[in-house]
Amino acid sequence: MDTKYIFVTGGVVSSLGKGIISASLAKLLQARGYNVTIQKFDPYINIDPGTLNPYEHGECYVTVDGHEADLDLGHYERFTNIRTTRANNITTGRIYQNVINKERRGDYLGKTVQIIPHITDEIKRNVKLLGTKNEFDFVITEIGGTVGDIESLPFLESVRQLKWELGKNCLCIHLTYVPFIAAAKEVKTKPTQHSVKQLQEVGIQPDILVLRTEHELNNDIRRKVALFCNVAPEAVIQSIDVPSIYEVPLKMQQQKLDEIVLTKTGMTLGATPELKPWKEFLARVKNAKESVRIGLVGKYVELQDAYKSIDEALFQAATYNDRKLDLQLIHSEKLNESNVEEMLSSMDGLLIAPGFGQRGIEGKFTAIKYAREHDVPTFGICLGMQCMVIEFARNVLGYADANSTEMEVSTKHNVIDLMESQKSVSNMGGTMRLGEYDCVLNPDSKTAKAYQSTHIKERHRHRFEFNSDYRAEFEAAGMKCVGENPETHLVEVIEIPSLSWFIGVQYHPEYNSTVLRPNPLFLDFIKAVIKNKK
Ligand code: GLN
Repeated sequence: MDTKYIFVTGGVVSSLGKGIISASLAKLLQARGYNVTIQKFDPYINIDPGTLNPYEHGECYVTVDGHEADLDLGHYERFTNIRTTRANNITTGRIYQNVINKERRGDYLGKTVQIIPHITDEIKRNVKLLGTKNEFDFVITEIGGTVGDIESLPFLESVRQLKWELGKNCLCIHLTYVPFIAAAKEVKTKPTQHSVKQLQEVGIQPDILVLRTEHELNNDIRRKVALFCNVAPEAVIQSIDVPSIYEVPLKMQQQKLDEIVLTKTGMTLGATPELKPWKEFLARVKNAKESVRIGLVGKYVELQDAYKSIDEALFQAATYNDRKLDLQLIHSEKLNESNVEEMLSSMDGLLIAPGFGQRGIEGKFTAIKYAREHDVPTFGICLGMQCMVIEFARNVLGYADANSTEMEVSTKHNVIDLMESQKSVSNMGGTMRLGEYDCVLNPDSKTAKAYQSTHIKERHRHRFEFNSDYRAEFEAAGMKCVGENPETHLVEVIEIPSLSWFIGVQYHPEYNSTVLRPNPLFLDFIKAVIKNKK
């Protein structure tokens, strides 16, 4: 069976939810028994988003094989449970880097290297890479950016060529926006018509249109769009705003998005899947009455997507504990000894966020000290865990100058320090400890009980580590190192067993939490928060 290639493009404006639509379609096809993968092509020149500030592009997601990726890959995994890899996220930078490397090697045999065919060929090679292994029935490719962007052109040209080459094995879903003009009390389809024209200008006729809207679109609207855009009326689908992104697959199923894709690509429909566990999850979302109030202490709080995976993992964990998530973003730069009581006393639990650099770090120490002294359930992730260690060294071990050498190179008490292997690294991009690593847990720890296992694998993204020279001293004073890497013996998890729930992890469990397989540590954290509340 030939692999089918589905492209998802966007027009009119960005942030229409191409990632969610791609993930929803994948979910629906998967539920019908097909093997599906999703990849994202980003038109920026960075090799990967690893060096991007979250202000630029939201959170950086990490795949099991250690690739720093676009946050949409997080949606793909959360919806489908499929693990993505380096091959699932390609940028213009990587395409150009490959082509330039080939040129330097002499692979082009003296030819002039051009956007068409050399760049487009490299794009097409990457589009098909996942399909060549015969592992997947469907490869869904989301093209980042918006039709009309200069940066997107080589990608769209590649889609045009592939549509021609692959025929029935390829189709294009185009997402647009239908604004509602309040004064006229009308939804407007003109931007959609223009956007489709723009796509047609580069030689692509979309097969399916998904219209993002805040108001129901009636059949007249759909017929009108169909008529102007050369698309069948039933292939004009609305994507109306919903309270939870996890409702989108159901909305798409009601409008038969998956059936249209299957029919157009000549695949068997089979029975309509029930999506039972998915619906059960959504029912729990709806039925949850009480809420848990979690304070997320970080420095990117004005930015919705900076802690995307943490937000989703908390939401999933709250839902499985039949609670609503009341997430409060607490700006670590604004926290200090004089306002900490006021800012944190109404929190049921705290999550100390990951991050890089000095900014906002003192506020994290203040929050941790408060949580430790008031026994507030607290979950530290990566830099958050490192801050728990530093705070303990300062206020319990009495090393007032304790720090991470990331913040203070010459500190005498370098309780968090650079790994030996990182000391010679000078390039920033892709040079951290990245991807999935084994971790062995002390069987008596809360963490092992949460995972119901002493052997786990979680994903990492950091340069600095707990300094094992201090291990015995910390343990004697009550902070236990309960998880370590079996090969390097690096400390991966710390706990203060005398507190109700005070756990810091060097890894990022949030990358490993999906709707149908929520992360055990997040579940246990919320459970502890609820217990503590009573
Ligand atoms: N800045 C810290 C390090 O590099 C933590 C990184 C993180 O929180 N992801 O080790």
